[in-house]
Amino acid sequence: MKKRFVLIRLIADFAFLFILASCGQPQSGAAPQPVGNLAPPQQLEDSYIWTIGLDPGHGWQGDPGATGNGLQEKTVNLDIALQTKTILESNGFRVIMTRTGDDSNDLTQAAKVINAQNPNPDLVVSIHANSGGSGSTATGTEACYTVGKSTDTESKRLATLLTNSISSKLSLVNRGVFPENSDSRCARRASTGWNQLYIHNMNPPTALIETAFLSNPFDADLLKNRGADFASAIADAIIAYLKNVEAPTASPPIALTSTSVSQPPVVSTSTSNVLVIDTSGSMDDALSAGGVKLDAAKDAGRKLLDIIGAENEAGVSANHEVAIVDFSDTAIVDIGFTANIDSAQNALSSLYTTGGTGMPKGLQAALDLFPATLTGKSFIILLSDGQPNIGLNDESDKVVVRQQVLDLAGEAGRRGICVYTVGFGDPTATGSIDENFLRQVADASGCGTYHNAQNAWELANIYINLRHESTGNTLLTKTGDIKQGENLEIGNAQVPDNQAMMLFTLNWPGSQLDAVLTDPNGKLVDMNYPGASLLTKNNLVSIIIQNPLAGSWNVAAYGAQVPEQVINYNAILSVRPNPNPPTPVPVTPTPVVVQPSGGSPFAILIIVLAGAGMMVYVITLTGRRARTQGLPLYGSPAVLVGLNGTYAGYSIPVRDGFVIGSSFACALRLSDPSVSWQHARLRFVNGQWYIQDMNSKRGLYVNGKRVQAVPLNKGNRIRVGSIEFEFR
Ligand SMILES: [Zn+2]
Repeated sequence: MKKRFVLIRLIADFAFLFILASCGQPQSGAAPQPVGNLAPPQQLEDSYIWTIGLDPGHGWQGDPGATGNGLQEKTVNLDIALQTKTILESNGFRVIMTRTGDDSNDLTQAAKVINAQNPNPDLVVSIHANSGGSGSTATGTEACYTVGKSTDTESKRLATLLTNSISSKLSLVNRGVFPENSDSRCARRASTGWNQLYIHNMNPPTALIETAFLSNPFDADLLKNRGADFASAIADAIIAYLKNVEAPTASPPIALTSTSVSQPPVVSTSTSNVLVIDTSGSMDDALSAGGVKLDAAKDAGRKLLDIIGAENEAGVSANHEVAIVDFSDTAIVDIGFTANIDSAQNALSSLYTTGGTGMPKGLQAALDLFPATLTGKSFIILLSDGQPNIGLNDESDKVVVRQQVLDLAGEAGRRGICVYTVGFGDPTATGSIDENFLRQVADASGCGTYHNAQNAWELANIYINLRHESTGNTLLTKTGDIKQGENLEIGNAQVPDNQAMMLFTLNWPGSQLDAVLTDPNGKLVDMNYPGASLLTKNNLVSIIIQNPLAGSWNVAAYGAQVPEQVINYNAILSVRPNPNPPTPVPVTPTPVVVQPSGGSPFAILIIVLAGAGMMVYVITLTGRRARTQGLPLYGSPAVLVGLNGTYAGYSIPVRDGFVIGSSFACALRLSDPSVSWQHARLRFVNGQWYIQDMNSKRGLYVNGKRVQAVPLNKGNRIRVGSIEFEFR
């Protein structure tokens, strides 16, 4: 049997940790290590020099910050900041440091240094390390951003890019990003009475990154030995952030080079998208399948905006803007072009119905939003449930009004704006949509298409499909049913060479589905997959992969929670070509062997092969003889000995990166309802074994205590759900 599954499940972070007010002091004063394989210095096409502020936390007036595992925060922070500076400067940036050693000024000096620069830096990253206090097993990376400032949205985007980059490069748990007034986040708690972090006083967009936990031995080992990777991850995030910022004196978009060798720069086309929505009185009508038309339009629009927002957050070098116009007797611009998708969502939510169908007015208002010179792809999605009956000058002559709509669509086409039309309703019903007319409108623009939806589910699918259709080349589209607990094979998509990005969406009307995406090498896409950005929201999974590997990608879904027993799904995968040839990084498959311990009655042998881009699991029952396998294992010799369940009495060799869970893709698969899809991971770093919880539902226990990440020693008892092992 062949299985290629991975689960993408964004599980809410558990917030039971009590983070102490922590952070910093000096230690060895380590010099920054040289960073190799950097691209040659490269600035912008014009002469604008980007200025980056780096703020190594603590070290002011003798404040060491947090301590743990022999490290002092102020020194760790400074070491990473100096290495980040080296990387940025070698890429042509100007870097301002708030301190370069211990400083006798107080903490307020940090903001003073930043604000004294003229001009101010384009952004500031404040670098800290976290602590959970003694006895804590907290692990991972998190960031905080300012609130109550005009730069908050940008600060949040920067924070998100920082945690994504560090979590990906260091395989650390991504704990998320938080506003600066959050309790128990970014080393602060409500009881301190703080409403602001000190970075609040810095003028530019500013994020504070808590790289990892000094209090956790695994995290501390990374901070001690992989400072260069933290620095490189921070520099990558800064560059990704700037790709979406226009230089003050530059009109063309910036060509920046990522410092990552494995991830060449992604070039993608920006988009400007106006949703034009009919809010005439009939949009208040109920749909035969349930719900009200306008609510269905809002839900469909919300999913489309979520997908666009995820693209903006992914750090692809393209800017996607949306605007919303509604029309009834008149047209209203609910929100002009913005990349702030949250604001657009709010505008969408505020729509209400009234009056007639002034379609020409809606189309005219949308056209007026576009600048004279377009950048990137521009389109209008026009939704209507009826026929136009009010013209630009309030005429109601049917022929005149229709001609106005067609003329406006033609004008859009001449300006390079595609008009997609969606007729919402049954075309055979009296007074309903005129499909031929709406098709003519789309055709008049020369590059749009017409679509018909008769219920909320179809409308959502059309909106999502239009995102794929209008921006890239669709490789796979499938709708169907999925059952509770079903691992559903959806299909394969053949991705060509040289694609800037892949967009995969899975949506469904209710319940909880998981998307399962596997690359041509059999590697499962998860949050740590190179170039991947994942979103799960409003019954929608959206996955963006930058520079996807060419070859056959497998798509599957899992019916995680389907109380209805069966629901519909809609899966679409599209790609956008890249003018710059990417350098794919081959993924080496990892052999896994489960061996019997001596005297066991059965041996279960699982071999993972990489052939033709798939993994093959072979399960063999070999009788009572133990057998030795010659496949290589990684890490020091260590085994898990099963204490109960299927593996009771078995001895299972482990290696660095060994994942335990209920997924077919896990190195050790436990088919038990108490075990999460990907439950726990073993790591072997610098001679020490560790085990990490992978945000499991039921938790990971070592010697009876629930943990996030702890060192493992021989004789430790590990419990994954209800299944127990001894580590030997
Ligand atoms: Zn700190």
